[in-house]
Amino acid sequence: MNPEAVIFADEEVVRPTHVEVDLDCLAGNLAAIRAHVGPARVMAILKANAYGHGLVPVAQLMVRQGADYLGVAFLEEGILLRRAGIRIPILVLGGIAGEQIPLFLRHDLTLTAPSVEKLRLIDEAAAALGMQARVHLKVDTGMERIGIHYYNAHLLLEASLTCHHVQVEGIYSHFANADAADLAHARLQLQRFHEVLEFYPKRGLPMPMRHMANSAGILQLPESHLDLVRPGILLYGVYPAADCIRSVPVQAALTWKSRVAYFKVVQPGHPVSYGSTWQSDRPVRVITIPVGYGDGYFRALSNKAEVIVRGVRHPVVGRVCMDQMMVNLDQGTAYNGDEVILLGAGPGGGISADELASWAGTIPYEVLTNINTRVPRLYRGEA
Ligand SMILES: *Cc1c(COP(=O)(O)O)cnc(C)c1O
Repeated sequence: MNPEAVIFADEEVVRPTHVEVDLDCLAGNLAAIRAHVGPARVMAILKANAYGHGLVPVAQLMVRQGADYLGVAFLEEGILLRRAGIRIPILVLGGIAGEQIPLFLRHDLTLTAPSVEKLRLIDEAAAALGMQARVHLKVDTGMERIGIHYYNAHLLLEASLTCHHVQVEGIYSHFANADAADLAHARLQLQRFHEVLEFYPKRGLPMPMRHMANSAGILQLPESHLDLVRPGILLYGVYPAADCIRSVPVQAALTWKSRVAYFKVVQPGHPVSYGSTWQSDRPVRVITIPVGYGDGYFRALSNKAEVIVRGVRHPVVGRVCMDQMMVNLDQGTAYNGDEVILLGAGPGGGISADELASWAGTIPYEVLTNINTRVPRLYRGEA
């Protein structure tokens, strides 16, 4: 966690630029997902600072709300959760470096085994510590990221039977295109996964916990829910793609706000900000907001984005700087200290992560995860 955010997570001293996370909203999203996928269980995905919402507070909420499992990308994220007192199972989804294995075991983190070689390393490390490693096997069915190829997967499943310090609790795969309108590739991946899974009944062995669905799979492919689903972005109330089937009602939990720091009138012929990329042809009122690309408000939003001040949308003008940016009120009014909404719900309809993403030429995932730890997080609601 961000030490500054902890020290200053007091509203009296918090900087005017901050993120508000609505915990009741997150709880509602988890409940909506559970209702949709039941009896499949839910692994709440908390990587990248819980998609910008704050790793530990979101994890604590998910535990209180009865999430079955937590998922993170890296060992470090798992250790932070254990240090924060989180006791429920945590799967680390990313690849592992050999020398890290004892740390996974010591912190009771579930490992992803993406190859026979890694599985053997896990087995050896667990044997050396006299422990049992809890493992999920990873099968690549068409993402070409990590995991044993589906056409070789029997080698990994076979090897797992001879690793006596490994408990294969789960087996999983990941979709490359479940957010597409055309689900042919996603269906092919799911079919390949099912073919791999036939290994277990054929050998008369118990089936490990099977999981494949990310948010898009949850929304668009009910047959992919299997035993467990892995929602990330949907948990935070954002749809993975604009045209995804919205079969689960969720609401965005995050609002990014700042306050007017400076007000002035800018005359024609007097361009605004670095590079002088914008000027007005008449006198206009321009405000300065204390937020910039150093907080994760993309520089690509220069002369593209809008913000909401007093319920009205106004354009960002000139280049976004590292710590400040300018907004053209034209003939509108605002005073120093007025609230400015950069992202999220609010008067005037709010600004969605989809909208910010399209202005910046990216996806809502990157908008959320890019809000960096310099921006304090405040938590509302008590779910
Ligand atoms: C990030 C991730 C997810 C969650 O993806 P969303 O699209 O945010 O739901 C699920 N599984 C794996 C393996 C991931 O890396």
